[in-house]
Amino acid sequence: MHVIIVGGGIGGLALAAGLRRHGFEVSVFDRDRDVAETAGYHITLDGRAQAALRELVAPEILERLLRSASALRLRDRDALWDRRGHLLAFGPRLEDNPGVDIDRITLRTVLADAVGPDLHPGWTVTGIARAADGAPSAVFADGAAHQGDLLVGADGAHSMVARYLAGGPTNEPTGIIGFSGRTGAEHLSAAERQRLGARSGMAIGPHATALYIGFLDPVGNALLDAPAGREAITTGPTYIWGAMFPESSATDAMRTLRGTALRSALLTAFGHRGWSRHTLEVIDRAEPSSIAAFRFNAASPRAQDLAPWAAGSVTALGDAVHATPPTAGMGAGAAIRDAASLVANLRAVASGTTTLPVAVSSFEAEMRIRGSETLVAAMRTVRWMRATDTRLGAAVTATATPVLAAAHRLGRRHRADRPAAEARTGDRVRRHG
Ligand SMILES: Cc1cc2nc3c(=O)[nH]c(=O)nc-3n(C[C@H](O)[C@H](O)[C@H](O)COP(=O)(O)OP(=O)(O)OC[C@H]3O[C@@H](n4cnc5c(N)ncnc54)[C@H](O)[C@@H]3O)c2cc1C
Repeated sequence: MHVIIVGGGIGGLALAAGLRRHGFEVSVFDRDRDVAETAGYHITLDGRAQAALRELVAPEILERLLRSASALRLRDRDALWDRRGHLLAFGPRLEDNPGVDIDRITLRTVLADAVGPDLHPGWTVTGIARAADGAPSAVFADGAAHQGDLLVGADGAHSMVARYLAGGPTNEPTGIIGFSGRTGAEHLSAAERQRLGARSGMAIGPHATALYIGFLDPVGNALLDAPAGREAITTGPTYIWGAMFPESSATDAMRTLRGTALRSALLTAFGHRGWSRHTLEVIDRAEPSSIAAFRFNAASPRAQDLAPWAAGSVTALGDAVHATPPTAGMGAGAAIRDAASLVANLRAVASGTTTLPVAVSSFEAEMRIRGSETLVAAMRTVRWMRATDTRLGAAVTATATPVLAAAHRLGRRHRADRPAAEARTGDRVRRHG
């Protein structure tokens, strides 16, 4: 069976690697000329995404990825701050968390190596054609076509393939826009470095403003003690942040800016919404060329709305079907798990135990559930952000967060006092006993 994959992003490359590993013929076409020319943020892969990768790639490829990953369990607990930098709460303990963080560039580059010459960079697919027997072809701008038995759209949130199948867009803007960037910890003041710590966190403000700050350190927090084989592009403690705002004509204008002009505009936009200057140091000290805008698009979180087409010899996976805002950090993991599911179903076709339409239908049914789960998780944050953009929501956020911060400080002081008080009580108990 020959499988054509439109899109060599995370999902398309994971699928191609898995298909090759199990003896399928595969051709991947991606419009990017170089796989390393991809966004500079990091990807969190949970235990399920890693298990799927283990199915898809050869052990030596997985080893290369894990050598370049940092372990979530080595990070301090996540934090929630207000716009003045006051701590509101800590997230759950991470000691038992099996998740890993990896540079997106490293993930894509290593997966591309697993696909080898079957990846065709610099090829933009512009349409789909069908032979008389229904066999699908990818069509290119110059009219050339490449035919296969199955065509898979792994072409991301603005998928041409999913649009062809669904007869229209499969997702829509959420009304939130994100700007991400990278800041080496060594560029921050000692005070800010200490406040942020070796943890990821989120700062919230009124009017749907938020600042996610992810901590990535594939060296200090390396998953494996294997410095020789490390391919991470991040070589020291780094904060990878995402500034979030409601979409408006002002954010449209910001999207046209680059480098230091965009960085200044972000600082001004937060300043107008009452954010303390010191909490924005991570933006102020960012590498200007790393700053980029991402519009948060989302598909429907209802499983029955996803992949709304009859199963056949053209299908799609990943963001093409269940485009997910990055607020849950699960989109790439879901695309990888889609790929593992499709490979498993196609292997059943190859072994003669099922037919292609049945295998594709079973894969799409599994993907609907997975996509819905991912979207429900990601939309929780988006909905909550949008709620702070009403007059009431903004007032509640502005008044409630200082109270929460004070409650957290008091709680900490109480916990700090408690051991001493308990020791004194213990002394008394022992003396009286
Ligand atoms: C700032 C940010 C942080 C994120 N963090 C995380 C995280 O921590 N964990 C996580 O799991 N997910 C995360 N995500 C989400 C994740 O990046 C996506 O969900 C994931 O990349 C989707 O994979 P995909 O293969 O479906 O699409 P993509 O990775 O977007 O790949 C699509 C590919 O198709 C190609 N393409 C598009 N159209 C065509 C065409 N017509 N012809 C040829 N090629 C085409 C593109 O060049 C691209 O390479 C984050 C996203 C953002 C924006």
